[in-house]
Amino acid sequence: MECYKSLLSFEKIVILDVPLLFESKLDVYCGVAVCVVCDEDVQLQRLTSRNPELTEEECRNRIASQMGNTEKIKQSDIVIDNGSSLEELYSKIDSVVTRVTPWTIVSMIEILIPPVGLISALFCYLKNRMKHNRVGCAILCSSNEIIIGANVENASYGAAICAERTAITKAVTAGNRVFKAIAISTDLDTCASPCGICRQVIREFADSELRLPIYMFNKDGSKVKILTIGELLPLSFGPGDLGIDPSTV
Ligand SMILES: [Zn+2]
Repeated sequence: MECYKSLLSFEKIVILDVPLLFESKLDVYCGVAVCVVCDEDVQLQRLTSRNPELTEEECRNRIASQMGNTEKIKQSDIVIDNGSSLEELYSKIDSVVTRVTPWTIVSMIEILIPPVGLISALFCYLKNRMKHNRVGCAILCSSNEIIIGANVENASYGAAICAERTAITKAVTAGNRVFKAIAISTDLDTCASPCGICRQVIREFADSELRLPIYMFNKDGSKVKILTIGELLPLSFGPGDLGIDPSTV
């Protein structure tokens, strides 16, 4: 509601203080995600002084239940160190606000020409979604060499490439054409599954029975699904349909 009010008041910037912003994944709706962090010892000291009714262990558990600083920093656009005085913190915040506040002319265009504002918001949303979509792939080649790849995103969505195809391109460039296994991991809770294009590309480098196993992990490796490329891409079209024996190419 406050955001709508600010929009109607032609505010150039709205600053929201959102606890658990990254945990709730609400940062995808923010133009700039700013993280205010301090050393864990300082964090503990401040938490215990603010909540004298809590034991040190309870304070530690509360800190541990939140996302760690390393991960928060990774997901932030700007990081402010809050290890010193309150005055210094306010000064740093003022400096960041000045830096990220858009020019008046840009704000006016976005507000007065709604399609421009919508495109700008959509771009911002997609940019943030890309941050949440980290995928890694490792290929065990017949030479026992392990080739890794990551997804490479692009502001022009169609130019992005998945981790699987990055790794396959690297493997083939290095002279590997037969794969023993492929592992995929992502930063999602669910197991990573290759997209349709990647399944087709993987299929090209599988044996004729399509028994190439794909190990699909979730973000911390606590879950894994193992399926063959034949199971992931049944009734597929491959080199054999063109009369090509891939092992001879
Ligand atoms: Zn893909």
